[in-house]
Amino acid sequence: MNSLPGILGKPGEDRNEKRYNSMKSTTTRLTIQGLEIELVRKSIKNLHIRVYQPDGRVKVSSPRNLPNAEIHRAVVNRMAWIREQQNRFRAAPAPWVPQFVTGETHFVWGVERQLDLVERPGRALVELKDGWLCLGIPPGSDATKRQRVLEDWYRQQLKDVMPDVVAKWEQRLNAPVAEWRIRRMKTLWGSCSIRARRIWLSLELAKKHPHCLDYVVAHEIAHLLQRNHGPAFDAIMTSVLPEWRDRQRLLETPTPASPASLRPTLFNPHIRQESGSSYKWFVA
Ligand SMILES: [Zn+2]
Repeated sequence: MNSLPGILGKPGEDRNEKRYNSMKSTTTRLTIQGLEIELVRKSIKNLHIRVYQPDGRVKVSSPRNLPNAEIHRAVVNRMAWIREQQNRFRAAPAPWVPQFVTGETHFVWGVERQLDLVERPGRALVELKDGWLCLGIPPGSDATKRQRVLEDWYRQQLKDVMPDVVAKWEQRLNAPVAEWRIRRMKTLWGSCSIRARRIWLSLELAKKHPHCLDYVVAHEIAHLLQRNHGPAFDAIMTSVLPEWRDRQRLLETPTPASPASLRPTLFNPHIRQESGSSYKWFVA
């Protein structure tokens, strides 16, 4: 993974953009009235103060030549507001972690599905049935096991469609790909190793509308023609996928799993009444 020139990141995580910004800005630390602040000086017109979740970290972006005294004054003026934000974040409950239990919702290809967990002997299986995302697992499987089973299924969903999607964009962009791979990626939707002509896709794409996978594959293959983001890259994308910006927005629309408590209708008569033999076995 030494060569990752083409990165399609989640918002604000574009690696090329980061590199670009770092050349244009200088970052220092300072303490004002006991408050630790990250100060970023760059070519902007106004001063911005941001407080980040969940730890209440404070970042100040300032015009390059604004005197320190001015920055000090601005922060002191907003100190009450900063403390208020920090207290609010610190009081917030810890983020909810999916448990993969009945009633939770999980996205599949852009559609929110309610999970139905059925404990049964035999091997694990996953099936979309009557709008439910049915997870059949051996009794006693813990949340980690249930998550793994579901992730394997998401991976298979991608594997089933990838050959067609890759072939389509190889042809339209006239750029052959040597290899594609799927893996868990937290901050990227895809990446491209130009030298190896290999593209990587995030497992998360199976949760998104199919247009998103289509767009990310096009984007990564386009890097075989144009290494860096910029007008030339955008022009290639526009020539083959004029609506790529809409796709980008769709990609950035969150598709979070949701707790069962938000979904009161937990009983799924179809699944409960069926015998195990009607399930499609999923080979992990
Ligand atoms: Zn890119």
